[in-house]
Amino acid sequence: VNARIGISKFPDDSEDVESLIKFADIAMLNAKTKGKGKICFYEKEMSKEIEINFQITNCLTSAISNNELSIHYQPIYDLHNKNTLISAEALLRWKNPILGHIPPNKFIPLAEKTGHIFPIGEWVLNQVCKQISLWKNKYYVVPPIAINISVKQLEESEFHKMVKSILIKYNVNPSNIELEITESVSSGDTLTIVKNLKELKRIGIKISMDDFGTGFSSLSQLDLFELDKLKIDKIFIDDLVTVSKRQGLVKSIISMAKSLNLMVVAEGIETHEQLSYLRKYGCHYGQGYLFSKPLPVEDFEKLLLQFSSQTLAMYKNYGEKR
Ligand code: C2E
Ligand code: CA
Ligand code: CA
Repeated sequence: VNARIGISKFPDDSEDVESLIKFADIAMLNAKTKGKGKICFYEKEMSKEIEINFQITNCLTSAISNNELSIHYQPIYDLHNKNTLISAEALLRWKNPILGHIPPNKFIPLAEKTGHIFPIGEWVLNQVCKQISLWKNKYYVVPPIAINISVKQLEESEFHKMVKSILIKYNVNPSNIELEITESVSSGDTLTIVKNLKELKRIGIKISMDDFGTGFSSLSQLDLFELDKLKIDKIFIDDLVTVSKRQGLVKSIISMAKSLNLMVVAEGIETHEQLSYLRKYGCHYGQGYLFSKPLPVEDFEKLLLQFSSQTLAMYKNYGEKR
């Protein structure tokens, strides 16, 4: 048996019974977020947080119809091949006229709680595929674009059908997109999740395990989800240079991934020192502010132009040699 306890104090927090009970409730909800067996005293900030979350949730309802969402693209590079662009990650941005810019780390968890993640996730898939198809017409070659998928979406039995129909709608090849899932898939409805992933893999979509090392994943499950890539979370990269234990950890993650035939991406690379450690350990790919921040479409297109002319020149050379 477990308990979470919320406490409010008379007369500091309030002098009327109703408010005291409400505040104790709010403190209890806060205790819940901190884990099992926690006790929380009410603080004014807790009400503010609830109020803000309430506002965000309200505004989220009309974010799509009001055109408030957009997608930025962050390039991912080959760390061993003169920093060649190999793919990019699609990252959601939301600007609301009242609340301003709200970071995805703030609104995605709320969207998952309230179910808004379903229309939003579908919007992202549509938007990215539409963009790929536009880019293909303009630049001919486009690297695979990785899309973040919430575990809630993967728990929908029809998810794979939705993805397939969007690919058909925009005439996009399955190899043009990749899906990033997180370790929370391990604690979800694994039967449905595995079914969805199998169907999507069957048609040629690659799957990455995002934020690897931060969540709850057992090694046996790496096998179960038939992954292609593993993304090492930024927290391991942050103190890679200064904490020797981290070096051992990152080195072992990379060698483990390699022995499982997985490609490895390091996230959040910000310094040249971090980069040289990762190169030394044989990490395949990298993403981070050292290379580029997530870019709006117009700026990412400049990279695409370069990428497509390099790739087309390579094809041409190859053809001439033959
Ligand atoms: P994530 O999937 O781990 O994405 C990487 C995050 O790290 C992005 O934050 C990116 O801007 C940031 N980042 C990349 N390189 C660096 C670096 O060198 N330094 C620092 N400080 N940060 C770096 P962002 O865009 O704020 O997204 C946060 C999270 O929101 C994402 O984490 C992802 O979990 C979620 N998210 C974003 N877009 C979507 C989406 O379309 N669907 C779902 N379900 N989740 C999304
Ligand atoms: Ca991601
Ligand atoms: Ca990540």
